[in-house]
Amino acid sequence: MYNAKAYSAASKTSPLARTTIARRDLTEHDVQIEILFCGVCHSDLHQVRNEWSEAMPTVYPCVPGHEIVGRVTRVGSAVTGLKPGDLAAVGCMVDSDRTCPECQAGQEQFCPNFILTYNFPDKHLGGVTYSGYSDSIVVDQKFVLHVPNNLDLAGVAPLLCAGITKYSPMRHWGVTRDKKVGIVSLGGLGHMGVKFAHALGAHVVVFTTSPNKKEDALRLGADEVVVSKNAEEMEKHTGSFDFILDAVSADHDINAYINLLRRDGNLTLVGAPNKPLAVAAFALIMGRRSLSGSPIGGIKETQEMLDFCGEHNITADVEVIPIQKVNEAYERLLKSDVKYRFSIDMASLKSE
Ligand code: NAP
Ligand code: ZN
Repeated sequence: MYNAKAYSAASKTSPLARTTIARRDLTEHDVQIEILFCGVCHSDLHQVRNEWSEAMPTVYPCVPGHEIVGRVTRVGSAVTGLKPGDLAAVGCMVDSDRTCPECQAGQEQFCPNFILTYNFPDKHLGGVTYSGYSDSIVVDQKFVLHVPNNLDLAGVAPLLCAGITKYSPMRHWGVTRDKKVGIVSLGGLGHMGVKFAHALGAHVVVFTTSPNKKEDALRLGADEVVVSKNAEEMEKHTGSFDFILDAVSADHDINAYINLLRRDGNLTLVGAPNKPLAVAAFALIMGRRSLSGSPIGGIKETQEMLDFCGEHNITADVEVIPIQKVNEAYERLLKSDVKYRFSIDMASLKSE
């Protein structure tokens, strides 16, 4: 065991504060990574504040952060393909049972026994897993991703959750050149959705509650932007979308978006508000439309997404912050005030 510096929350009402955590000694399959940047996902905020108390109650202290990029510092004797000095990344999962049909199919995100990067049982040290708001982490090589070396690292970190959470459902639902795709909300996930849908050649329409994000949406690759509070603008798109991806973090009216789908169109929810959303049966029935959800993506697909980003020069638009500003960043997230992902520069943890 060794000590790592980290930021943790002691309770659902405590701010994140400096702490020391234990990391395990390397097993033969482990990779030790010096964390350089960690993205701030709205899920970190939900988890730290125990907003998912029913689905995933928080165990304190909680060290969040599942958008991790850094440099390999040591590897176990059985590790292949990664060596000290290499860039490496870790997302939302650090383990799974590897034997179930989902794992066999490379879909670890559906494994009933997966271990998320934070707040899940830690079989090595007991307690729960501690994640990326830290200077170092030890992860089994199977859950460590390779990072293309042509990309800005602060903007790579958010690809590990925001990126794959948008990329995976777009591939699953067949977003291609001739499709009309809606992206609901222009936050961390949403702005990655715009970039991917644009790169895949779709006609991209962004729905935002923030009129001041209009120009950015177009710059990021949207073909059209709709301010969702404007009923007239919304109505123009009735019955026209093949696919809509909704990443809103709070309670909102999804029927307004289901009505925009064409026959057999699909709306996929990736946003995870804590309260159940109301669904109008007729909105789905009349056009044989479907409503579904999607969690992150498997390890193989996450690597595919990172390679796609390398080829297309895609990273997140980030506001780099020192870790000392993370509590302020959470308050700004709640006001939809981020362009478009906070990325923590872990060098700021070194001086504490
Ligand atoms: P974020 O950066 O805070 O973006 C959320 C956006 O939602 C805001 O920028 C805002 O966009 C919109 N919004 C916020 N409050 C709203 C309201 N009351 N009504 C309508 N729109 C509102 O959050 P994020 O990191 O992208 O995460 C979004 C959600 O996805 C969170 O719930 C998170 O937990 C979840 N998530 C799920 C997965 C998964 O695997 N499914 C993975 C990661 C995150 P506009 O200003 O454009 O309206
Ligand atoms: Zn996330």
